[in-house]
Amino acid sequence: MRRWIERVTGAPGSTSFRRFRRIVSAANERGQWAGDLDDADLSRAARAALISPGRSAVVEPTADLLAVLRTAARRTLGEEPFDEQLLAACALAAGNAVEMDTGEGKTLAGALAAAAFAVAGRRVHVLSVNDYLAERDAAWMRPLFDSLDIRVGWVGQHTPLMTRAEMYRLDVVYAPVSEVGYDVLRDRFATTEADRVSPVLDVAIVDEADAVLIDEAVSPLVLAGTSTDSPEDFTLADALVQELDPGLHYAIDADHATVSLTDAGLDLLENRLGGVNLYDTAHTATLTRLNLALHAHVLVHRDVDYLVVDDAIKLINTARGRVAHQQRWPDGLHAAVEAKEQLTVSSPGIVLDTLTVQDLLRRYMTLSGMSGTMVAVAEELAEFYSLRSGRIERRLPNQRTDLPQRVFLDEDSRVDAVLVEARERHRAGQPVLVGTQSVAESEHYAKVLAEAGIEAHVLNARNDAREAAVIAEAGEYGAVTISTQMSGRGTDIRLGGIDEHDHRRVARSGGLAVLQIGRYPSGRLDAQLRGRSGRQGDPGTTATFVSTTDELVQANAPDHLLEKIRRRGSQLDQTTLGSIIDQAQRIAEGIQHDRHRDTWDFSRAIARQRDTVLGDREAVMNGDRAALEVTRRIPEAFDRLASASSPSVVARLARDVALWCLDEQWCDHLAHLTEIRDGIHLQALAGVNPRDEFHRIALREFRGFFASAYDRAADITRDVTPDQLGQDITVLGLRRPSATWTYMTSDNPLGSPMDRAARAAGKWIRTRVNRIE
Ligand code: ADP
Ligand code: MG
Repeated sequence: MRRWIERVTGAPGSTSFRRFRRIVSAANERGQWAGDLDDADLSRAARAALISPGRSAVVEPTADLLAVLRTAARRTLGEEPFDEQLLAACALAAGNAVEMDTGEGKTLAGALAAAAFAVAGRRVHVLSVNDYLAERDAAWMRPLFDSLDIRVGWVGQHTPLMTRAEMYRLDVVYAPVSEVGYDVLRDRFATTEADRVSPVLDVAIVDEADAVLIDEAVSPLVLAGTSTDSPEDFTLADALVQELDPGLHYAIDADHATVSLTDAGLDLLENRLGGVNLYDTAHTATLTRLNLALHAHVLVHRDVDYLVVDDAIKLINTARGRVAHQQRWPDGLHAAVEAKEQLTVSSPGIVLDTLTVQDLLRRYMTLSGMSGTMVAVAEELAEFYSLRSGRIERRLPNQRTDLPQRVFLDEDSRVDAVLVEARERHRAGQPVLVGTQSVAESEHYAKVLAEAGIEAHVLNARNDAREAAVIAEAGEYGAVTISTQMSGRGTDIRLGGIDEHDHRRVARSGGLAVLQIGRYPSGRLDAQLRGRSGRQGDPGTTATFVSTTDELVQANAPDHLLEKIRRRGSQLDQTTLGSIIDQAQRIAEGIQHDRHRDTWDFSRAIARQRDTVLGDREAVMNGDRAALEVTRRIPEAFDRLASASSPSVVARLARDVALWCLDEQWCDHLAHLTEIRDGIHLQALAGVNPRDEFHRIALREFRGFFASAYDRAADITRDVTPDQLGQDITVLGLRRPSATWTYMTSDNPLGSPMDRAARAAGKWIRTRVNRIE
C-alpha cells in the first residue's frame, strides 16, 4: 500500500525536474544563435541572458543562458553538454539534490550550474570529498569558466593560508568540504581581521552529496590547540589487559560494539594492582584506562580500523575504506591504541571549537548537491537540509545485468564461489572489480586470487595516493582490481582503458564485472559500487556474495534469525537467507538514521550557543563591546590606566583580554557540554528523555556565560600595571595555544554511551517491528 502511494505521490522529500524540460528545449532552439556568437561575446551574452540577477536564493537559468553555456563548454572543453546535463544544471541552480548515475557527467553539470550562479553575481563553492577531485575538477573546468570571465580556483589541505584568502575571493572555488570547515573554525579563532581567510558561505554545490550530507554529516570538524597536559600513560594498562582471557575475564556483547570486564577480570586486575578496589572513586581514572586499553585490544583492529604508517596511527574511514587524514580518536582511546602498537604516545590537545559538516552546510545561503544515489535518502535530505531530491534518467538505456545476490553460510564457500566467478570472467577478458569491506579483506582476496594465478591491483587505504590512477585503469581488457568501499569514487572507469582504445573488445567480452563481497551498511553504498559498471550504456555485470558470518549480518540481524541460521542454516533456501540479509541492512540503515537525528539534535543546541558567542566575539574584536563591559565593571581602574597611557590603549587591552576570556570560556563550556552529553544516558534510567534533558542542562549551563567572561576580563584588567600596557597579553600570563591543528573525528568506534544505548534500543525496537510485519 505504502509503495503504491509513493509511486503516485513520490517518496517523501522527492520531486520531479520535469518543469525544467521546457527551458532545456527552448535552449535547444537557441543553439544556432549561441553558436554564432564570437568567443569574445560569450561572457557578455551570458550576463545579458540572465533576466533576474535577483535577490532570491536560487537562480533559474534562461534558455539563452543555457544555450551560451552549452556553446562555451563545447568550444572550451570539447564536450557538448547533453540535455540531461543542462537539466541537471537547472535543478542544481534551483537548489535541489540531483541524482544522476555514475558516468553521466555530473562534473560538467555542476560546473554549468556554478557558472549560472557566478553570472548572477553569486559566490560558489563546489564541494568535493577530497583534494584530488577538487584540484582535478577545477583544472578540468577552468577553460569553461575562463571563457565566461568567471574566476575559478581550488583549495586543498596543503594550500597555504595566504593563498586560501585569495581563492575565497574568486567566483568559484573547488574544495573538499572539510577544508572549508577548517577555515571557518580557524577564522573564528582569529584575533584580527587580517588573520582571516574568510570563505564566503553563499552557494554550495556538493559533489558525492550523499556521502557528505548524510554519511559524514555529523562528524565533527575539530580545531584543537596545544595543551600543557602530558599524555596519559597507557603502558601499564596495556600490559595488564594482555593477561586477560576472552570469555573468562571479559565479554564482548552481541553487536561487537562493547566489551566489558567480568568479575573474574576485575578480580585479576585488582590483584595485579596490589589489591585495590577499582570501583573506589580514587581509582576511576585507572579503571577508565583499563577499559580503554581493553577496547583498543579487543574491538579496534589493525588494518581494519587503522593502519600503522611511519610509526603513527592512521585511522581508516570505514565508510570510505580510505585513510582518514588527520583524524584521531578521542584522546584516551587514541593513546590506548598507540600503547597497544608500542608507539610513542602523541600529545593530547585541547578542543578549541568544533563544527559538524551538517552545521557548516546549513550556513550556506543556497545548498544543492549531486550524486549517483540521492533519492534513497530523500526523506533525510528534506528533514536535515530542507532539500528536495529528484532523479535525472540515464541518457542511454542501462545495459547492466545485476545477478541476484548469493548467500553463503561460511567464508570458505564464499571464497570458492568468488574465485570461480572471477576466474571465468577474467578468462573471457572481462575486467573484474572486486569490492571488499576492509583493507584486510581486500588483501585476503588479493592473496586468494594470486594463488589461483590471477594478479590483481589492490586499491585500498594503503595506496590512497595512487588510487585514482589505478581505478582509471580498471576497465582495461583482462584487468583485475580489488578495492575497499568507495575508494576511487569520482574517477571514471572507462572500458578499454582511459582513452577507450580497446572499448569494443572489452564491451564484447561483457564489460566491467563487479563482484561485491558482503553488503555495505547501506543500500546506497551497494548501489554506488554496482554503478561502477555499465556507465553510459556500456554492458556490464554485477554479482554480490554475502556470508551470514559477515559483520553486518552478525551485528544487525535480529537474534531469532541468527539463531535460525545457526540451527538450520543449510536447510534455508536462498530467498529466505537473502531476506535476512536485506533485513540486517535495513536495520543498520535505520540505526544510522536515528543516530544522525540524535547527534544532530545534540549538536544543534551547541551550535546555537556557539552562534551567540560568536556574535559577541565579533562585537569585541571589531567594536567597543569589551571596553564598555570592562569600564562598566571597573571604572576607577580604567581611569587609572587611561591616565597612565591613553583610553585607546586601555580599550585595546580590554579587547585582547576579553577575547582571550571568551575563547577560554567557550573551550571550557564545550568540554563541559560534551561531558554532560556523554553522561546523559544515565538520566534515561531515571525516566527522563535524554534529549530534552540535555537541552535543559545546556541552557542552564550557558546562562551567565557572558557575565562571567567579562567579569573575568575585568578582574584581569584591574591588576594590570602601567608598565604592562601596550604589550602582548602574554605578559599577563594569558596564553593562546602556540599551535593549532584541525581534524575530523571519525565515527567514534567506542561510541558514546548514549550512542550505544540508542543502538541497542534501535535494534530491539526494529526487531519487534519486523516481527510484526
Ligand atoms: P560522474 O561524476 O557523473 O560519474 P563525470 O563527470 O566524471 O561523471 O564524467 C564521466 C565522463 O563522461 C568523463 O570522462 C567526461 O569527460 C565524460 N563526459 C561528461 N559529459 C560529457 C559530454 N557532454 N560529452 C562527452 N563526454 C562527456
Ligand atoms: Mg563524479
